[in-house]
Amino acid sequence: MIPKSFPALPDFPAGEVWLAGAGPGDPRLLTVLALHAIGQADDIVYDALVDRRVLDLRRDGAELISAGKRGGRPSSQQRDINEVLIERARAGRRVLRLKGGDPFVFGRGWDEASALTQAGIRFRIIPGLTAGLAGAALAGIPATSRDTNHAVVLAAGHRADDGQSSADWEALARLGQPIILYMPMTQLAGITAALMKGGLDAGTPAALLQSATTEDERVVDSTLGGLVADARTHGIGSPAIVVIGAVAALRQQVLSGLVGWR
Ligand code: SAH
Repeated sequence: MIPKSFPALPDFPAGEVWLAGAGPGDPRLLTVLALHAIGQADDIVYDALVDRRVLDLRRDGAELISAGKRGGRPSSQQRDINEVLIERARAGRRVLRLKGGDPFVFGRGWDEASALTQAGIRFRIIPGLTAGLAGAALAGIPATSRDTNHAVVLAAGHRADDGQSSADWEALARLGQPIILYMPMTQLAGITAALMKGGLDAGTPAALLQSATTEDERVVDSTLGGLVADARTHGIGSPAIVVIGAVAALRQQVLSGLVGWR
């Protein structure tokens, strides 16, 4: 099926760690390299957001190790995960660290890359489709369009390690560019208020995307000022992305032609 002209897929040597993104949810959005890695790994250390059907692509005998438990103390958990990766690599295993979305977008991939480097372990990065961009795209929301914006902001609603937001939301509002929020739900009221204080109109188009690209996907069209109430009314919970800006309304213009995905 794959012609000879296609670049060769790399061997997965014993003792290496591959940090791969599994994409936003739908298993079909894996990259060719991620699929290849899943088929070769001895150990797969996976996050909660990785679809079971992705894990089922592993080879016979591969060991599954759950990481990224939610709600505990993420910083100590991260140390534990780093340890597992290092120990298993030192034991000569081919270790795949499989994360939702892209490992380098709010995914702690950098922490792991640094820890592996310090431990003298060779690693490879396999990027993945990030939820904020791919999820929006599948809902008919472009990250950029020539008519609306020349930049886009990806922002974390809260920092996973301390529950606090360190962003200057008013400054982000003044950029006048769309903002795509990851982990938005716990701080949504404060963030939307700060964005309005920074000058964004309450009527700025917005959209809530829950479980984007999966069978459970829900898309709620909203406005900046209406986000909190709409999230509550529709019972939107994690994992969710919030898109704020003119791009969020563009989907209305293409919904009649946008073919359902499944
Ligand atoms: N590395 C991931 C992001 C991890 S942070 C990536 O690149 O996509 C976890 C946050 O990602 C969630 O709180 C949510 O905001 C977002 N997210 C991940 N998958 C999602 C999905 N299928 N639908 C909506 N949001 C998702």
